[in-house]
This record gives sequence, C-alpha cells and structure tokens, in this order.
Amino acid sequence: MQGHTLSRYAGLPVIIGAGLAGLMAALEMDGPCVLLAPSFTGEGTSSTLAQGGMAAAVGPGDSPANHAKDTLQAGAGLCDPAIVQRITEAGPSAVETLLRLGVPLARDENGQLALHLEAAHSHNRIVFAGGDRSGQVILQHILQQARRKANIHWLQATLEGFHAPDGVLQGIWSSVGFIPTRHCILASGGCGGLYQHTTSPLSNRGVTLALAAWAGATVRDMEFTQFHPTALVTPDQTNRLSLISEAVRGTGAVLRLDDGHRFTEELAPRDVVSRAIAAQLREGRTVFLDGRSLPDAPFSTRFPGITQACRKAGFDPDTQLLPVQPAMHYHMGGLKVDQTGRTTLKGLWACGEVACTGLHGANRLASNSLLEALVGGQWAGQDVNAHRDAAGPLNTTAPERPTFTTDWPFRAEMQQHLGILRTRTELENFLERALPQARQNLCALTASFIGWAALNRPEQRGAHWREDAPGLQSPRHLDLQMNDLPL
Ligand SMILES: Cc1cc2nc3c(=O)[nH]c(=O)nc-3n(C[C@H](O)[C@H](O)[C@H](O)COP(=O)(O)OP(=O)(O)OC[C@H]3O[C@@H](n4cnc5c(N)ncnc54)[C@H](O)[C@@H]3O)c2cc1C
Repeated sequence: MQGHTLSRYAGLPVIIGAGLAGLMAALEMDGPCVLLAPSFTGEGTSSTLAQGGMAAAVGPGDSPANHAKDTLQAGAGLCDPAIVQRITEAGPSAVETLLRLGVPLARDENGQLALHLEAAHSHNRIVFAGGDRSGQVILQHILQQARRKANIHWLQATLEGFHAPDGVLQGIWSSVGFIPTRHCILASGGCGGLYQHTTSPLSNRGVTLALAAWAGATVRDMEFTQFHPTALVTPDQTNRLSLISEAVRGTGAVLRLDDGHRFTEELAPRDVVSRAIAAQLREGRTVFLDGRSLPDAPFSTRFPGITQACRKAGFDPDTQLLPVQPAMHYHMGGLKVDQTGRTTLKGLWACGEVACTGLHGANRLASNSLLEALVGGQWAGQDVNAHRDAAGPLNTTAPERPTFTTDWPFRAEMQQHLGILRTRTELENFLERALPQARQNLCALTASFIGWAALNRPEQRGAHWREDAPGLQSPRHLDLQMNDLPL
C-alpha cells in the first residue's frame, strides 16, 4: 500500500505516544518536532491511570543507594546495575522537575512532601498527587506545559510502520500519511491489552513494538510480564479491570480468603502476592481485600478515585470486602535500549514501558515506572537534540507500506497459557496458535515473542514462574529478533 507524504513534517524528529514518556521527550526537544498520538487528553495512556505515584529517594533517612538496593532485589538478578544507579540517582531531580512543571505533589502537615510506602520498598518514597489520582494530575499538568511549546506539532494519528531499509530509519507511516524522518522516539506504552485480565488500556496491545521488531529492532526479556495482585473482580471481565493500588495495602489493608483467614504477607513483592492469590483462585477460593479499618482515615478519604471505581462496581470499600484477582499490569520486557534510549535500529529511540532499559530486570519495583518514563523521555529527547543535525539528505517519496492485521481473539488463551503460573505444555499450546499468524498479525507477533521467550526460560525468576522448571539458572538476558522465531 502506498500513501502520500506529509511534506510539512519531513525531516523532523517524530515522537510516538502522548503518555508521560512521550510528553517528557517532547518537552525536552529544542527544535521543531512532531508529537503523534491518537489522543492528547490522556485517553489510552497507562500514565493517566497511575494511582500510587512515582518512586524517588527524597524522604528523611532515604538515599538513591537504598532505592537502588530495593530495585535490584525486586529485579531478581536481571537488572542492569549501572542503569539502576543512574535512574535512582535521577529520582530526586525528577521530583523537582514535576514541581517545576507545576504538579501539586501532596504535602504533609509540616509542608514536606508526603510519601507513601509500597510493597518491597524499604522506605516511604512514593510521591503522589490528587490522593490516588497521581497519574491523571501529573499528566494533565505536563500536557498543559507541552501545549505552551510552539516547537511541538501535534498530529492526531496512529503509527502504522517504520521504513528502515538496511537497518536505518528513513521514515514512519502513520494513519494520515508518510513522514520522512531519521529520528523517531517510540513512547507507545505496554501490551497489557493482549491479556483478558488487565489494568492497562485495552488499546495497548504491543502493536508498535511488533512494528519495530518487523523493521529489525531487537526485543529483550519479553517473558517478564508483571501481574498486579489486586484488580477488582467485576461481573464484566471483558473490559479493563480497575486497579486497587498497592498503596492501599501499604496503609494497612489486608488480604483474606472467603473464610476470613489471611494467607500471605501483603507487602511482599508483587509476584509473590500474585502467585499466592492465583494459587488460591485455582483451588476455587475467593480472595478479598479488606480496607474497612485503615488507620488514621477511612478508605474513601484516603483513596477517593479507587472508592469511586469500587462504588461504580457495587462495593463500598469503607464497609465491604472487595473481591480481587491478579491482572496483567506492566511489561518489564520490551525494545532493547542503551542508556540514552537508542534501540538496535539506527534512528529509533524507545522510552517508557515499550522499552527495556534494564531498570526492572525480572520484576518491577512498584512506582519505578513513572520515574523511568519521566527520565527516559528526557534522556531520549536530549540524545535526539544532540544528533538531529548530523544526517544528510532524505528521500521524501512515500514508499510501499507492508500491510498487517491487528485483530486479537486470543486474550483468554493468553491469560490461561501465558499467565502467572506457566508450564512448557501450556506455552507450546499457545505458540501453536500464535506463531502461524505472527508474520501478518502484529498482536500475534508480540504475543509470540512473549511465549517463545517464556518457553526458552525454564526457571522461576521474578515475575516469570515455570511450574515445570523449579529453581534458577544463571542470570541471562533473552534477546530476540523476528527471525529468531520459528515462523
Ligand atoms: C492502572 C495502572 C496503574 C499504574 N500505577 C502506577 C503507579 O502508581 N506508579 C508507577 O510508577 N507506574 C504505574 N503504572 C505503570 C505506569 O503507569 C506506566 O508504565 C507508564 O505510565 C507508561 O508510560 P508510557 O508513556 O510509556 O506509556 P503510556 O502512558 O501508556 O502512553 C502510551 C502512548 O502511546 C500511544 N500509542 C499506543 N499505540 C500507538 C500507535 N500505534 N500510534 C500512536 N500512538 C500510540 C497511546 O495512545 C499513548 O498516548 C500503572 C499502570 C496502570 C495500568
């Protein structure tokens, strides 16, 4: 298929996605750039759904070294220590950036930043805003600031492909035309929408990651998918599930079985709590979160946004137990990038959830992703600024575009075979369905990467738990390109 060229944008850096990572990259650009996304309101972003807030070592007695230690511990041997150090050290200045951009971070009675505690953090270190509406408040303020910048061209569209003959980016196809460019920052979020039970926007289905892989980019550690332990169970399981933030357990809510008994350590790392819940659900039990007697203030005062979602689903968290189940929440794997956000495809940067920087390893520490999206967006923007003038002439003729499909009827299978507890047989069953479609269907390609990587990691590490392969092997990354799959 051949499209027309959007000549007015020819040669400009293009940023894909208007969540936190994309907006931070756009704010960083010191020359004209295109910001391309289907919406500029926060809709379709995970960023706007974030409840807990952003992790940064700014509290008394805390330090980036403590933050790094907790991050490495959660990452189960697969974090890149240099990146962990760099990002945790950038935490305090990321908080300053939010304040400079006008984000009203919550304060305590002494006027100091208020800090939540979340699972597996050794200190209270989560800055937040708007009670439990951190993401929404942060994104709206950053959108406002970005709108003041005259150098950003706002293009409402979707990405449909990368043109990268010989492994060098020459342009991108969008739903409204071809843009010749040598610099693209992909900030298009995760792939939770591939799963039946997810807290992410359903539109985040790994399509853009698959397009990058098609063009030749390497993906890393795709098998590491994080399931949040506590999504609210509602009768309609086809939509995105409402999340009940870790901060709720951090303030004292407990998990109970249908007979009232507690069965796990509520503030253990996410993967541990998710597996404990999944094992109970598999036995036919029901699991509840009990936030009826939080210290200091009732649930509805502490967590107004979550309360609203619970009440909409028919539960009053001040007086009732909340039925919960784990749901796909965050993708630790993604496009392999270096410390400036460069992918292995020349001219393509990636930041935020679509990227695999090495910060999270096998398991993300809660609230580290907003921090990674913020600083990763800034660093990618700075690197593009430093290199945007270096390139020579650009061919502006719109080339032929390969056509793909993006329908995805296998959300339930993904949940069943590629969920929290995995076995070789289940993974092979899943791949039998997904692989034959993966050349043509972009969702199937991303799902196949996850399945293939899970099959080729016979161990129990972080969020990846092979029931048929107990124990740990030596730590190693799994890098894949499209031609590594048996397509
Ligand atoms: C319910 C929920 C709560 C969370 N809470 C927290 C928290 O408290 N703290 C924390 O640190 N993390 C949290 N996370 C994770 C965190 O929100 C995300 O990892 C982070 O916001 C990702 O930011 P991003 O900019 O990479 O992607 P997103 O915010 O998801 O933005 C992706 C952008 O790309 C666009 N896009 C997608 N496909 C295309 C395409 N084909 N063409 C063009 N544009 C496209 C989307 O429309 C969107 O604009 C939470 C996640 C969820 C789902």
